[in-house]
Amino acid sequence: MKKIYLHKVEKQIARHNTIRDINKQIVLNYVRARSPISRAEIARETSLQRSTVSAIVDELQAEGLIEEIGTGDSTGGRKPTLLTLRTGKPVAIGVDVTPSFTTVVLADLAGSLLERDEFPTSSDIGYMDKQILEKVKKLIDQYPDADLEVGMSIPGIADQTSGEIVYVPYFQWSNWDIGRKITEQTGANVVIENDANAVALAELWFGNDEIKRMRNFIMVFVAEGIGTGIIIDGQVYRGEKGAAGEFGHMFVGPDAPVDCSCGRRDCWEAHASEKALLQRYLDSHGNGGGGSMNIEHLIGLAMNGEVRAVDQLKLNAKYLGIGISNLLIGFSPQAIVISGSITKAWDLIKDEIQHAGQRSIRQEVKMTEIIPSSLGERPSILGSISLILARKFASAS
Ligand SMILES: [Zn+2]
Repeated sequence: MKKIYLHKVEKQIARHNTIRDINKQIVLNYVRARSPISRAEIARETSLQRSTVSAIVDELQAEGLIEEIGTGDSTGGRKPTLLTLRTGKPVAIGVDVTPSFTTVVLADLAGSLLERDEFPTSSDIGYMDKQILEKVKKLIDQYPDADLEVGMSIPGIADQTSGEIVYVPYFQWSNWDIGRKITEQTGANVVIENDANAVALAELWFGNDEIKRMRNFIMVFVAEGIGTGIIIDGQVYRGEKGAAGEFGHMFVGPDAPVDCSCGRRDCWEAHASEKALLQRYLDSHGNGGGGSMNIEHLIGLAMNGEVRAVDQLKLNAKYLGIGISNLLIGFSPQAIVISGSITKAWDLIKDEIQHAGQRSIRQEVKMTEIIPSSLGERPSILGSISLILARKFASAS
């Protein structure tokens, strides 16, 4: 899966038999990135022949991927017809599995959600299979002509080559073959990816312009656990069997407030995840806390100035920064992008994170930006559909 960089586009216009497909993807990418855009503008910017662009646009329209949305300003002569991605036509099903909820969505090419269904995630894998298959099948039956593909984001290790979910630590599921089952029962193509990798990919496709322009960054996905998605040269770095980026289990120090999902108590995740934050907050009340609390509530309290919530959020941010400083030393990326509910309280946590991150700065190296994700709530939902959308926009590789 390769990202197309518009500024390098001339080099990517191929001369071989794939020329048509590649040029088609380049035109589609221009419509996505610059819409509303006219045929003439596309021809000018890509150096493709005007007639080639027109033929490709006809094809993309016939396939229902782009549409005309009226006319632009004329520079003399006929007003140009403007093109945009076609909205409202389903192209991708996203399945986002998190430790608490599993969400199944239907999306169009622009990433807008057309339908959304949700159920509580269970540790019973038979129940999970049944629920997911039922909901995916329903959507595929509903749109028999849409040729839908399924993208799935999971909180664990997914092997892209075999399409198998190798391990989900939170539930200790091994070799979960839901992808094969979906394909067998529906015929749909399935792409499965680790949640942090999927969110990193979503950031490349749906993020703000600043992030979209970056070629090297690390996504730190803070949820029940901590995952990292490593983007190198505009692509997700997966490592052998998709197991790269498990920095949540790097050693940060003993005596974390909770056990890590791997069972140890010295991992980064055990110190800086939502789970760690919640436990520290409950502990700060003494007597074992004597209650339950969810992350949204705790963040709400902190943003409203509740002292204990603010203190614990800042302490969590400090531990987040310690892990990040290790990432900076090893990767020297353009940016660290932090995703997850805690980013809602960014003003409260940014100084703590930056401060710990500073430790890794050497004189000769430019300071790495540490920024919050631009994806909003539940970024892993966008992650799941971007697995499919990125394939539709990417060059044949
Ligand atoms: Zn661990």
